Amino acid sequence: MNKSIMAKHESTFKKIEEFKSNTRFNEKLNLDDRDNVILSILQKNPDASQEEIAGKIRLSQPSVGTRIRKLHEKGILSTITGVNFGLVDLHLGKIDVNATDTVSIIKEFSNCPFFINALITSGKYNLCLFFMATDLKRLEGIVNYHLRGNPKVKDVELNIVISTAKDFVLPLNIDYDNKEQLNCEQKCGRTLEGK
Ligand SMILES: [Zn+2]
Repeated sequence: MNKSIMAKHESTFKKIEEFKSNTRFNEKLNLDDRDNVILSILQKNPDASQEEIAGKIRLSQPSVGTRIRKLHEKGILSTITGVNFGLVDLHLGKIDVNATDTVSIIKEFSNCPFFINALITSGKYNLCLFFMATDLKRLEGIVNYHLRGNPKVKDVELNIVISTAKDFVLPLNIDYDNKEQLNCEQKCGRTLEGK
């Protein structure tokens, strides 16, 4: 390896160390470097076996198992099971909302099977929601039911997600055995003030 490449590697390494000390990631989460390596292996390959990891970090398989269990218990390592948006025929809506009370809006569709996630943000639109549906009409219906005419909502903009750069896992809450679960009006309790 020549000198300039060495220097480049060193500076990258310094940056990572700097990032780690600035975020105080390890202290806050009570992790050591082996935990970090376990996390990065599992992020790249969630199916990596404990034996495989043990070999890479020179620990016994049971102690890798213990570390993984602790990471789960601390909530640092979590697994999302869902479907990959790119592979299924679902419509994903990104809804930007200008709301007076973002937290209570989110509560209103906590039981909605079409609700994916919500981000509270800064800016004109202070709430970004993700809903999915099998067709656009239904997506529009969900937005109408949950948001339009809601006194806490000042502005709504619905955009359809065309593609995602990385895998986007949608943890779906649809209960396919439940025939009643047709639309929001039947399924999602909306609790408006004075209603
Ligand atoms: Zn709903």
